[in-house]
Amino acid sequence: MLREDNEAHKTAKKRRLHPVLLGIIACALLITGFALYYNNNTAFCVVVDGEEIGVVKNKEDFQSVIDELAREAEERLGSEVKFLIEADFRRIKGLSLDITPKEEIKQVLNSKMEYKVKAAAVQISGEKVVWVEDEEAARRVLDAVKAAFIEEDENSKLEGVEIEEEVLIVEDYVFPDKVLDEENAVAILLRGTDEIKVHKVKKGESLWLIARNNSMTVSDLKNANPDIKSETLQIGQELNLIVPKPYLNVVTREIITYNKGIPYSTKVEYDDSLWSWETRVKQNGIYGTKEVTARVIRKNGVEVEREILEERVLKEPVYRILTRGTKTAPSRGTGRFLWPTIGRISSPFGKRGREFHTGVDIAASVGTPVKAADSGTVTFAGWNGGYGRLIIVDHGNGFTTYYAHNSKLLVGVGDKVEKGQTISLVGNSGRSTGPHLHFEIRKNGEPLNPLNFFEK
Ligand SMILES: [Zn+2]
Repeated sequence: MLREDNEAHKTAKKRRLHPVLLGIIACALLITGFALYYNNNTAFCVVVDGEEIGVVKNKEDFQSVIDELAREAEERLGSEVKFLIEADFRRIKGLSLDITPKEEIKQVLNSKMEYKVKAAAVQISGEKVVWVEDEEAARRVLDAVKAAFIEEDENSKLEGVEIEEEVLIVEDYVFPDKVLDEENAVAILLRGTDEIKVHKVKKGESLWLIARNNSMTVSDLKNANPDIKSETLQIGQELNLIVPKPYLNVVTREIITYNKGIPYSTKVEYDDSLWSWETRVKQNGIYGTKEVTARVIRKNGVEVEREILEERVLKEPVYRILTRGTKTAPSRGTGRFLWPTIGRISSPFGKRGREFHTGVDIAASVGTPVKAADSGTVTFAGWNGGYGRLIIVDHGNGFTTYYAHNSKLLVGVGDKVEKGQTISLVGNSGRSTGPHLHFEIRKNGEPLNPLNFFEK
């Protein structure tokens, strides 16, 4: 029985695996299965800026969160965005892995992620100066900068406009706050800075004082405030303290037409009915007019060159015509005399105390013209002791006249003078107590009372 059992057992043993072996196999299978399961059950801990922000099953899941955020940002901003994110992935294994829900990761990322948007930079001589939304906007900004220096009207035609510097429009990703609206971008390009500094005029301040207090020159201050017309400021008036230094030099070429005056010239005609010292204006000169066509080159609105292309006379100028006398003075007097200057007699001819006054004194202010009382020849013109600056005219008929105390002599010895010609100016030279003309008439050297010779 036992044997049989044994036999049977043996037989069974032969047909089936030994239970121990079976156990081993099962165990192995279990371990393998577990190992397989364990090994397949991995995930990634996402580390951003050294901080674990969650666990994702795989890297693609994380990327899909980023893509989703990007799509949302692009929708919100209307332009392409690029996230600045550095994520490290740490592989983790475990039996039960706690995968962070997508929404949670998205929330965390949203709060800490920086992003740049696609924009167009205006690059001047290699330097990116301003960013605007896109290339189109950048073009409009450049056009507006050019337009700021174009003054077209019916008398000026724009021939061309160029920017001196090398200007490129470059697409680039920047932080969203770098992107300007077009108006601001234009202002910065024109002003050379985005800085604004305004000064409110206080009582007692002048341009000079404000300039000095802000380390500027008065001309800087005027350049920064082209609207200022006069030196007087109003209290409370606002002055810009930043001198514009445009990033760009806009060069414009205009063809302009304008009218310009043509100066007149002077013609001299001679007339023997006038004395040689007399000149009369026969005809006043009148400016003519011409139409000028010119090419004007301006840099940032300031003229740097003007080329005259054409000039057309619209109205000829009118000559100024002077008539000059040719009649020379006779050297002989008429024997009749003119009152030599305007003024009252302050001292008559004749006895004056112990002295004898050899002429009349005519009080007149300094500079009053003194006229030759009759035609003749100057025989003395210069300083003569108590007479001061003296002129003596010999009338060639035995008469001589003296003009003393002058401030200025207008004729010289040998000059022929005509009756009524201005020969000197009243003064106070020599022995004189106030401006006056001392006037003498002498016959053969003897002083006579001038009052007896005046024409009425
Ligand atoms: Zn006198």
